[in-house]
Formats: sequence, C-alpha cells, structure tokens
Amino acid sequence: MSLNQKTAVITGSNSGIGLGIARELAKAGANVVLNSYTDTDEDHALAADMAAEFGVEVRYVSADLSDGDAARGLIERAGACDILVNNAGIQHVAAIDKFPTDKWNAIIAINLSSAFHTTAVALPMMRAAGWGRVINIASAHGLTASPYKSAYIAAKHGIVGLSKTVALETAREPITCNAICPGYVLTPLVESQIPDQMETHNMDRETVIREVMLERQPSKEFATVEQLGGTAVFLCSDAAAQITGTTISVDGGWTAL
Ligand code: NAD
Repeated sequence: MSLNQKTAVITGSNSGIGLGIARELAKAGANVVLNSYTDTDEDHALAADMAAEFGVEVRYVSADLSDGDAARGLIERAGACDILVNNAGIQHVAAIDKFPTDKWNAIIAINLSSAFHTTAVALPMMRAAGWGRVINIASAHGLTASPYKSAYIAAKHGIVGLSKTVALETAREPITCNAICPGYVLTPLVESQIPDQMETHNMDRETVIREVMLERQPSKEFATVEQLGGTAVFLCSDAAAQITGTTISVDGGWTAL
C-alpha cells in the first residue's frame, strides 16, 4: 500500500519501537516526523539517512513530552499530521510503597498525558485533511498487570481507555484510533529493565530473560520492531478503516493465557 502524501508523526522515535514504526511508515511512502527530547547531530542524521533510504521527507523535531505544551508544540511544528503514533514511553520498576513520586509523575506524563495533548492538536488537522489514523503504543501491560510496574501499568491501561474514547469521538469520520499492545520487544527500554529484574529476582541475564521477562510470552520469542511497524502500516490501510477503538496484541500469545 502507499502512504504517499501522508505525514506521520511518531513520538519517541529516535530508537526502539518508534524508530521501527517510522521506518515501516517511510517504506510505505509516508513523510515522517521523528521525535525525542534530545536534539543531537545523531538525531538529525537519523532523519537525513531515513529520507535518503526511502525517498520521503523526514524531519527530526525535538520536544520533551513530559511537558504538555511541548507535546502540543510538536504537532504544531510538524505542520501536518495524518498519522499520529503515540509511542514515547519510559519505565521504572519498584514496589509501590517504594515507588518514587517523581517517577510516577514522569511515567504518567510521558506514557499517557502526552498522547492526550498530541491527539488534541492532531485531530483538527486530520479533520481538515479528511482522513486520519491515531495509533497508540500501549502494551500487554495495557491489558494485564505485573508486580512492581504500577505507574507503567496504570498509564498503559489509561492509554487503552483513551484510544476507545477518541475512537468514539471520531466514529463517524474517516479517522480511526486504536492501541497496539506489544509483548516483549528487545529494545533499549527492555534492555534497561534487565539489571533491575536481575537484582529483584537474583538471577543471571539469560535466566531472567527466559524465566521472568518471556515467562508470560508463550512463543518464547521477543516481538520485533519490524512486526510492530507492519501492524501500524496495516492500521493505516483501507482494510483497517472499520477497525477502531480496539487493541491489537503483538505478544506471542501473552494475553491468551
Ligand atoms: P525506547 O527506550 O527504545 O524508546 C522510547 C522512546 O521514547 C525513545 O525514542 C526515547 O527517546 C523517547 N522518550 C523518552 N522520554 C521522552 C520524552 N520525555 N520526550 C520525548 N521522547 C521521549 O523503548 P521502546 O521499547 O522502543 O518503547 C517504545 C514504546 O513501546 C513505549 O511506549 C513502551 O512502553 C512500549 N512498549 C515497549 C515494549 C518492549 O518490549 N520494548 C513492550 C510493550 C510496549
């Protein structure tokens, strides 16, 4: 399928799943706006390389999505937003009675509130263009819980609810809103959890990956960023025009358990 002439804004897309989704959307012909909170030469080089590789326009726009005004500013600076992928996310693992308040606030702001702000600005642009897709990257933890991840799980359940509400508010328009719920994907976010999990469970790296991290993923394989990108491209297709207000799990069977 071709997404020529569409502009996709992907939050948190200088690494991991966001970058994988951006690459698949660019491959499908979309112009892309990359984002993170940094503003380095590497960030802008990433955009230039992607533009050259796929023959589309790619810009990098820095915005710290822990700040609601900055999240709104990202979409304003993008200038157009036919496809909005709310992907930026952080994690912190601690028992609830030891969970630092600043970590709670940052996770809710980046993983949940930023999607409220970007969607609020993007929807009028989609309405003016007569077409739109909002794709929220939730998690298997948007549908199920695990201990020690209270803020993350609250935010991910929240973004599933936000997706349903946006879908109902746009149901009679050529705009859809859905949440993709990945299981474990080996990215920097997951990589950064491994030391904490090793300490919490007193296990070596391989054992913690197999027994703890992929314990609930029946396939025993990490999902890939390319698979998540492909799912996002599918949600942008005409075949998915009546898919709205729901979740698509890419989790190796996790939520079937
Ligand atoms: P990652 O750390 O590789 O990517 C996170 C991205 O968010 C990065 O680009 C980072 O720079 C950006 N980001 C962080 N704080 C930001 C801020 N304040 N402002 C702007 N950007 C910010 O992690 P990932 O695994 O690719 O995660 C991407 C999304 O997928 C997250 O929402 C995460 O919760 C979700 N997810 C990941 C997995 C997994 O197994 N990796 C599973 C389910 C859901």
